[in-house]
Formats: sequence, C-alpha cells, structure tokens
Amino acid sequence: MTGKIPETSRYKPINGEEFDFIIVGAGSAGSAIANRLSEIAQWKILLLEAGYPPVEVHDMPILAPVFQFTPYNWKNLMEKQDYMSLGLEDQRMSWPRGKGIGGSSLINYMIHVRGNRLDYDKWAAMGNPGWSYDDLLPYFMKLEETRTRHQDSQYRGHEGYVKVEDVPIRTRSAETFIEALQQMGYSYVDYNGYQQIGVSYVQATLQDSRRCSAEKAYLRKAQERGNLKIIKKALVTKVIINPITLEAEGVEYERDGMYYTAKARKEVILSAGAFHSPQLLMLSGIGPRYHLSELDIPVLKDLPVGQKMYDHLSFPELVITLNESIVFKASSFGINEFKKYFSNQPSLISTLGGVEALAYLNLNLTNRNPTYPDVELIFMGGGLHSDFGLITRKTFRITDRMYNRIWKPIENENACQILPMLVHPKSYGYIKLKSKDPHVQPKLYGNYLTDAYNEDVRTFIASIRAIQEIIQTPAFQRYNAQLLDTPVPGCELFRFDSDPYWECALRHLAVTLHHQVATCKMGPKYDPEAIVDSSLRVYGIKRLRVADASVIPLPVTAHTNVPAYMIGEKASDLIKQDYMYRPYQNY
Ligand SMILES: Cc1cc2nc3c(=O)[nH]c(=O)nc-3n(C[C@H](O)[C@H](O)[C@H](O)COP(=O)(O)OP(=O)(O)OC[C@H]3O[C@@H](n4cnc5c(N)ncnc54)[C@H](O)[C@@H]3O)c2cc1C
Repeated sequence: MTGKIPETSRYKPINGEEFDFIIVGAGSAGSAIANRLSEIAQWKILLLEAGYPPVEVHDMPILAPVFQFTPYNWKNLMEKQDYMSLGLEDQRMSWPRGKGIGGSSLINYMIHVRGNRLDYDKWAAMGNPGWSYDDLLPYFMKLEETRTRHQDSQYRGHEGYVKVEDVPIRTRSAETFIEALQQMGYSYVDYNGYQQIGVSYVQATLQDSRRCSAEKAYLRKAQERGNLKIIKKALVTKVIINPITLEAEGVEYERDGMYYTAKARKEVILSAGAFHSPQLLMLSGIGPRYHLSELDIPVLKDLPVGQKMYDHLSFPELVITLNESIVFKASSFGINEFKKYFSNQPSLISTLGGVEALAYLNLNLTNRNPTYPDVELIFMGGGLHSDFGLITRKTFRITDRMYNRIWKPIENENACQILPMLVHPKSYGYIKLKSKDPHVQPKLYGNYLTDAYNEDVRTFIASIRAIQEIIQTPAFQRYNAQLLDTPVPGCELFRFDSDPYWECALRHLAVTLHHQVATCKMGPKYDPEAIVDSSLRVYGIKRLRVADASVIPLPVTAHTNVPAYMIGEKASDLIKQDYMYRPYQNY
C-alpha cells in the first residue's frame, strides 16, 4: 500500500559523534546493511546519505524514467567518446544514479533479475571463496519475498524484505513475444530459478503493484530501532584514515554547508555505488598513485581504483510495427488509470515504464555453454514514441534529429520495441577524478564497442538477427509485424540491414542500461586489479570495506539491483562473523 512516507531521516548531525559502524550511502546495498547490522541491538549504526527521502510518487512504476530529471538523480554524463553516441545530445550518454534514501532503487525500472549460476561460479573461480552460486543462493532467497504466479519455488525466497511481483497489466503484444519465443523452441522459465535461458514476463520489484525500493524494503521498519541513525543530505567528503596505522577512523561529511566528523569504533563501510565509492576512496588517498599525485592527493595506498568499469549497453532503435492495436498507447493513460491505481485495481500506472517481458538467449558468441546467455532481450509493449518523445528518449539524450526521423512518424502507429542488452561485454571503461573537490562529479569513460576483435559489435548484430527471426514467427506475423526500416540518420550510406549499417546504427544510438560495475573490484591479493578481498575489505587499509555494485568483478547476466541487495546481505553476515563469532574481537 502507498501509506505515508515515514521520516526515515529525522536525525541531525552531531560533530564527533561515535558509532560502531558508519555506512556511506543509503542505496540498495547500504540500506540492506543498515537493516541487518542494526539487528544487533548493542551496535550503534550511522547511515549517511547525500540525497533526500523518497516521496509518494516514487511508488508509481510508470514514472520510473521521470525521476531522472529530478534531484533524485546525480545526473552524470559520460565523457565524449570518438565514434560513439553520435545520435545523442553533445555525443554524451546519460549515466544516471539514484540520489536519495533508497539510492538507485528509487529511480530504477524495478526489473528483478538475479543473474546466472555461472556468473557467480566465475567469481569464485577467480579466487573469491564464498561467492559461488551455491554460496550465494541463501542470500538471494533471504532477500526476496516472491509472489509471482510462475516460480521455481525451491530457488525462490518467500520471507524476505524485497517483494517480487508480476506486473498486473499486460499487453497482447507481450503475449505475442512470449508465444514467438516458444515457437522458436524456447521454454517459459522462471529466469531467477533453475534455468535462465528462455522467455518470461518480467518479474518486478513491486509491493502491492507499487515500487518496492530499498528504503521501503529495508529502512522503514529498521529506522524505528533506536540504534540506527539515518542522516539525509549528508555528503561524505572523505574517509578519515590514520596515516600511520592505515586504519579508517571515521568520515568527514558536509551538510548544508557545515562540515562534521563521525567516528567509527569498528568500521566504515562504503556503499556509495559504482561511481561514488571509488570517488571517495580516491579522495581519501586510496587509488592509482600517478592519478592521485596529479591532483595533489597524498597517497595512502596505491590501488587501481576505478581503472576498470564494465557496463551493459543496449540498443533502443529496433521498432516493430503491427497491424492491430495490441500495444500501450499514450491515449490509454487517462484519469481512470489513476483512479484504478488508488483503489488498488490493476492499472497502467503499475507498468515498468513499458517493460513487459525478458528473454535470455545463447547465440554461441560470447561463450559456448548453452545454459549461459550472451544477450538479454527486453520487450516493451510500446516504445520511445509512446510518450511522444517527451520523456524516455530524453532520458537517453536522443537528439531531436534522430527522434523526428525515426520515431515521430510512428507516434500514432501500433508499434512495440525489443531492446537487446549485451550481458557479457568485452569492452570496458574507467573512472577518474576530475577534481579533489568532493562536490565535483568524477569523469566517467564508457569506452564502449572498443574491444580488439569487435566482438561486442558482432554479438549485438547477432542479437538483431535473432530479433528479426522473432518477428518472422507465426505469432508475430499474425499481426503483419515489420521491423521499421527508416535508416538511422548518418548511416544512410550503408545498405540498410547490412552488418556495417547496424554497426553504424549502434554507434549512433546504443545506450547504457545503468549497470556499471567493477570500479572497486573484488579479487584475491594476486589479482592486480583487485581493490577489496573476498570479505570486501580494502587491501592495505584496516577497518574499511566497500559493499555495493562497485565490487562486482565481472558483468552479470542481470540488471544489478538484486546483485547489489545480495552483496548487502552477504556483507552484513561477513561483518557479523568478524565481530560476533570471533573470540578475539569484542562487540
Ligand atoms: C535509471 C536506472 C534504471 C535502472 N534499472 C534497473 C532495473 O530495472 N533493475 C535492476 O536490477 N537494476 C536497475 N538499475 C541498476 C540498479 O538500480 C543499481 O545497480 C543498484 O541500485 C546499485 O546499488 P548500489 O547499492 O550499488 O548503489 P546505489 O543504489 O546507487 O546507492 C548509492 C547511494 O550512495 C549515495 N551516495 C553517493 N555518494 C555519496 C556521498 N559522498 N555521501 C553520501 N551518500 C552518497 C547515493 O546518493 C546513493 O543513494 C538501474 C539504475 C538506474 C540508474
């Protein structure tokens, strides 16, 4: 139910106050950790968050893209990349990140995916004991309460804080997509269960058809515990590290122009996300020596922080026109839908910005294991035209020139979209500080489609070919489905539908789906890229951990919210083990 948003952040700062644990960032992982650590009544926990608490409209799933234009988004832009993003404003991709109590779970699309068994088995094989799928399954189950109609019950949690539901409204076009994949031989699966390859309606992080954010799931109840203090609008500016003992002693933070310190008796935990955890490490003297020296930041520990960043790229240009009205239409979003929503009936307001179904395919390109996908297909029962280009395409910064040529002419047509997402990209980017001023956002480099053998482009093109096959199935041909063949402006010189044409189109219109990871990579000591060990402790610095999406060592076959929750749950247990069950440490 919507309910009143409780004042999750009523505390005021007190300079020099002491806590057992200080958590930086109330996002997906940080909220889970704050909840789990505050279960121990003797521990005093501080959770510092740069943004504001959510408001009631956050609950409305249909509004997901809108929050990117509000102060709940850090509003970062990727640095310009040669021969990339040619159809985007200023050739710069938008890289949103949630800023608020709930973090990115306040502005995300609520797609609930855990990832593939092999993702995590790879983490373990890389030298991270305790992170195989079998090790992590209890955490994936612990975090969720699955309420979906179709589920592999033995793999799914039923008592967790994060609620998982079906979207209450479905279009016939989504049904057609599922039928089409089945006609091609794919099974209908619980992609969070035994088998991921296949097709399914999307599973959503929803509670009673409303957004279930990290704030709602983990903090609303926990903040009633007397030992958890949450401070909003508190920008942590650095971790205070003793330069002699190399121990984290606390943090410095700024609120309304005033600077405060908070002391940690036990640990500081950075959960500021894939951009800001590495930024904070570097501001605190932990990072590549040459880079910190460039900015006159005294180096406490030379580590390759931010040197590698993987992401999931997608391509939102594949539009399928149909001869019947079986899709979402802007005209359907009337006052009636709000009435239904507020009276708890199935309503279009509860749809995930148009995302309805997912399919996972192995195209035999990034790997030869038939159970391990190399692309995810995201089916939308509408497209960038459905809101007349006013919102979603603007979140991607697609230019007027592109929109007016490709989507505008079909604004009143029956059309849906399939977005391929490359789940195991070979290309990777990096992150650098722009300034040693903590208020200045870091520089983000995507470096997309730059791998030596052009494998990322080839996998994308193979996924486009797979989508063309889907359109040719009897299920879609019942509606005379056609792939829109308007050439992408700038690619007219290539023969439409040739491989070089698609590469050109990708370089104009491919966009991130916001799954940046690996900027504080977890790995064994012998891994030259590792920042944290398998207990998430920063190498060379005592009493400092990182626990959020930044520690994910390789891209997962998932959207990254559930993995971030899992990391929060697992980190909490690692911390409890260290302080509760080891005889030589007190709590
Ligand atoms: C637009 C968008 C759509 C997405 N859609 C999906 C989806 O549908 N499904 C899915 O699974 N994933 C999705 N994701 C990704 C997913 O939401 C994130 O990967 C996940 O929430 C990351 O969790 P985290 O804990 O690592 O960081 P975050 O949730 O980003 O939390 C970090 C928190 O730290 C705070 N912070 C940062 N710096 C400081 C500082 N210096 N001081 C104090 N606080 C600070 C931030 O304000 C933020 O609240 C989406 C992401 C975005 C941006």
